[in-house]
Amino acid sequence: MLDVCLLGCSGMMPLPRRWLTAMMARYNGSNLLIDCGEGTQIAIKNKGWSFNPIDVILITHFHADHISGLPGLLLTMGNAERKDPVTIVGPKGVEKVVNSLRVIAPELPFELKFIELNEKIEKLSLCGYNITAFKVNHNVVCYGYTLEIERKGKFSLEKAESLNIPKRFWSLLQNGEKVADGDKEYYPEMVMGPKRKGIKVCYCTDSRPLGIISEQAKNADLFICEGMYGEKDKIAKAKEYKHMTFYEAAKLAKEAEVKEMWLTHYSPSLLKPELYMKDVKKIFKNSVPGKDGKSVEINFEEE
Ligand SMILES: [Zn+2]
Ligand SMILES: [Zn+2]
Repeated sequence: MLDVCLLGCSGMMPLPRRWLTAMMARYNGSNLLIDCGEGTQIAIKNKGWSFNPIDVILITHFHADHISGLPGLLLTMGNAERKDPVTIVGPKGVEKVVNSLRVIAPELPFELKFIELNEKIEKLSLCGYNITAFKVNHNVVCYGYTLEIERKGKFSLEKAESLNIPKRFWSLLQNGEKVADGDKEYYPEMVMGPKRKGIKVCYCTDSRPLGIISEQAKNADLFICEGMYGEKDKIAKAKEYKHMTFYEAAKLAKEAEVKEMWLTHYSPSLLKPELYMKDVKKIFKNSVPGKDGKSVEINFEEE
């Protein structure tokens, strides 16, 4: 099971009742945060989720509304007596940018590890999350992220019994381990079926629409996508500032055939995203206007 929370849904600046766009995932005791603008730690606190298990922080790009909250969050994690290292992933230069911000948060009781993204598409495996970073089209280098949770194949009792594999090895094989018993060796493939459909979440802000976004979001359980503008006549602005309208986001969701799409990163001038949803839903039915603290629990499909 994967928990996902859209911590805030504002773009550019936090507003009194709208924190900046960021997302937190919880899986198997390990939390992953995407983006950390000013006030993100307050949004986390509002949601009641904890800081201490944040093992991975993915940064989309180096605009203040996506990273300026980082030194404060790291200090809070330090005060919560975090000891384990935290991995920070971001575009080329992320280590330098974070270390510059850390001039005001120099002493932390845990180590920071950095992964710099250089390629158009990069795959990482961290804390049980399979992460794909993909370059999008903004006015600075920016990445979208796909998170996937793999699901193992089914354990076959019949196979285990017919191969006379001792019961005490079953759970090891289920965990993907090879087992040696005297001169006999047992492999997970002997008793495990093919991988089953896992869980997939795609997060993309800030960008113009691109083919790679719908490719990466393909069949996702949840697609969180920026929608800076709801007003149709703001398309020129969206193009100029390299953002999207609600309708462009809905078109990507439709192409990607996702289960559900949440809009986020609203312009501060956009006060009521709900007003535009009728037309957005004509393009993609399962479009939802994101709200601060909106969360969902995504489970593996029943069989
Ligand atoms: Zn932004
Ligand atoms: Zn930006």
